Parts: sequence; structure tokens; C-alpha cells
Amino acid sequence: MSKFCIFCGQKPEKKNNEHVIPQWLSKMTGRYHKVCNLAGVTDKQISFSALQFPACTKCNEDFSALEADAKRIITSVLDAKPISAQEISRLLDWFDKVRVGLWLAELTLSQKVEEIDPNFYITERVGQKDRMLMVERLKDAGQGISFVGTNTAIFREMPSVFQLIINDCVFTNASENGLVSNKLGFPIYDKPRPDTGRGTVMTIRPGRNKTGHPVVDKYNASPTTTLIYQPMYKIVASQNIASEYDAPYVKEHSIDATNGVGGIFYQRGDNAVKYLGEGEKLNITPRAQPMPETGILHKKVFDLQNYLLSGLYNLSALDSAGQQYYNALMQANKMHAKICEKSRR
Ligand SMILES: [Zn+2]
Repeated sequence: MSKFCIFCGQKPEKKNNEHVIPQWLSKMTGRYHKVCNLAGVTDKQISFSALQFPACTKCNEDFSALEADAKRIITSVLDAKPISAQEISRLLDWFDKVRVGLWLAELTLSQKVEEIDPNFYITERVGQKDRMLMVERLKDAGQGISFVGTNTAIFREMPSVFQLIINDCVFTNASENGLVSNKLGFPIYDKPRPDTGRGTVMTIRPGRNKTGHPVVDKYNASPTTTLIYQPMYKIVASQNIASEYDAPYVKEHSIDATNGVGGIFYQRGDNAVKYLGEGEKLNITPRAQPMPETGILHKKVFDLQNYLLSGLYNLSALDSAGQQYYNALMQANKMHAKICEKSRR
């Protein structure tokens, strides 16, 4: 297999290496020389410093501004300082980058690259689809970093949900078409068939122009859980295919309507859905909760991965072999979730 650039997928030009967990982050959390958790992916012991993959020099440089912004924004979040809608949007770009980077890393390490044949790379997947971020904070958690949910069969199929724990902050991140737009008043996606990302046909209807709870099925905000949402319609905007987006509500609730970047909505403290307007700032870090069982934290990822598949896609439109395939993936996740519930540490 020829080496590919994890940003653009091409043979790396002027080869460089990119850390999928950025160096500033593993250093900031005291993990740079520590072994990272890659259970179920490879038996090899790989340190965060060695978790790096080929990239073009140019691609790497193009993303260095995002890394610099992410470092500043994450520092604010860990310090419970308020941030703007633009900063939250930037942070969500960074989560897209890390999530897809870990996906490509794990496909490479588990030698599944040829089997799965990744049909997109980081550059194509950043800022494309609706996004959600759940933020929780733990009491008495030490320094550290870990990622969860990137070794499941569903994640290999669709790298849309993962969890990143940075010191005492737990970030559960999801990105998929139609994930939040419907409930935020944006144009509505009818459930497509899953098609492993290869050009699924989506039907779009005009939005309701108002928000509703729950934005994502079953997920509630509380004093210890902040929920952040951003509708994204870059593909629609670039191809100019859906006039449904040419609506005052959409424009008033977007950061950059021309480029399909929706605005930031949130639920903080309670379930009232609010919009973070221009010039406003929000502290997305909730009140710390006593350390729950590790399994309880991780279970959210497996549940959310199943929800993205069963709640956003029309599985019944598949033939029986297809249905069996996706049901088996979800069954495996239910097993993971059950084991999580029972786990004790
Ligand atoms: Zn490249």
C-alpha cells in the first residue's frame, strides 16, 4: 500500500508527519511520552509522540492555524472561560479533524485501510455535516488524555462519534447530516439509506423556523452537562442545490450563510434551546460532577453511535443482507454498552 496524506489522501508531497493527537495537547496533559490507548486496534505499544502519520508539508501547514486556535480555545474551556460562537465553530472543526485523524490512524494500524478503502480524508470532512458536542466535567480527575469509541465496527464504517477526555473535561462529539438541523428550525433531512458515505441521496424539506427539545433524541442538558449544536450545509451551499436554505431564518442563524456554516445553539443548565448571537460569549464548561464509573461515561459513545445509524438512516430501505450487516454492527455496540454498564474501576 502506498502511503497517503491523512489530510488530502494523495501521495504526500514533500513528506511531513502529522500527530493525530496534536503534540501541544499530549504535552499539555503530560502524556507525550506515555502509551496511548489503542486496545482492539493493535497489540503494539504506541506512545502519543509516535502516533503520527504521513502528510504533505502544505496540507500540514494549512491546518497549523486551526491547531493554534484549538490550543487557545481548549485552554479557555479547561479554565471555564467564556468563548464566542466563532470560537466554538472553530473548536468543532478541530474535533472533526481529530476524529477523522484517529479513524485513519486506526485503519492504518489495524491494517484495515485496504479493506475499508477510506473514501474521504481530513480536509474533505472538516466542517461538512451537522455537529454536536456534549461537555461534562469531572471532580478530582487528574491530568491526562484518552479517546473512546474509535475502535468499534460502526466507527470504522462511519467515523461520526467519539469521545475525547482532556484532563477533567469530557467531550462527546458527533457529526452527521440531519443530526441537529431538523430540531433547530433548519431545513429537514429525510432519512437516507446508509451508503458508507459514498454519495447518499438526501431529500431536503423546508425547515420549521423554530427550535425544539430534544434536539438529539434522549439527550438532556443539566447543570453538569452542556450541549452544543451547529447545523452545517456546506455541500448544499457550494452546489447551490437547495433553495430551502435561502430562508431568512437560516440566514439569521448562521455564522457564514454563503459557505453553509450554521450558527451555534446550546442548552446549558437546562433544556431551553438558545442561540449564541454575534458578540455574545458562552462558558461551555459545566459544573463538575463526581467521577462516575468509567463505563458510564464511555457508554454514551456507543449509544450515540447506534443512534446515528438507527435514528438518522432508513435501515429498512436496505435489502436483507444490508439490514443484517448494520444490525450486527449495532448489536456489537449494545454489547460494548452493556459491558460498560457492568465495568468497575
Ligand atoms: Zn496532502
